[in-house]
Amino acid sequence: MSCIFCMIKNGDIPSKKAYEDDNILAFYDVNPQAPVHILVIPKEHIESVDCITPENSAIVAKIFEKIPAIAKEAGITNGYRVISNCGPDACQSVKHLHFHILGGAQLADKMA
Ligand code: 5GP
Ligand code: ZN
Repeated sequence: MSCIFCMIKNGDIPSKKAYEDDNILAFYDVNPQAPVHILVIPKEHIESVDCITPENSAIVAKIFEKIPAIAKEAGITNGYRVISNCGPDACQSVKHLHFHILGGAQLADKMA
């Protein structure tokens, strides 16, 4: 299986890291859509929100526990948006669960 985010997690593709621990990696999006655009992933390969189960959902809680500190550390002071695109209609392009943190400026009031 070739997965870009697993390759980033393994260090096979370089990334600008924002946070890392044993279970979670956060890195800056290569094509930012806001002044601060960070992706937070579980190190475990989970394909999307559709694949969250009772067996693997603890990592999602851990990610959300860390998101406020990741955003603050990145300099976001006035709010941010957390998005996870799931499946074709949402334009998910990388099939490894990830949460976008977008901030650093006033964002559009519409999400889609
Ligand atoms: P999606 O469209 O699946 O919700 O989001 C995937 C995100 O991954 C996109 O915002 C895209 O810019 C980002 N991305 C794709 N490949 C790379 C990469 O190699 N490095 C980094 N840092 N971001 C990537
Ligand atoms: Zn993966």
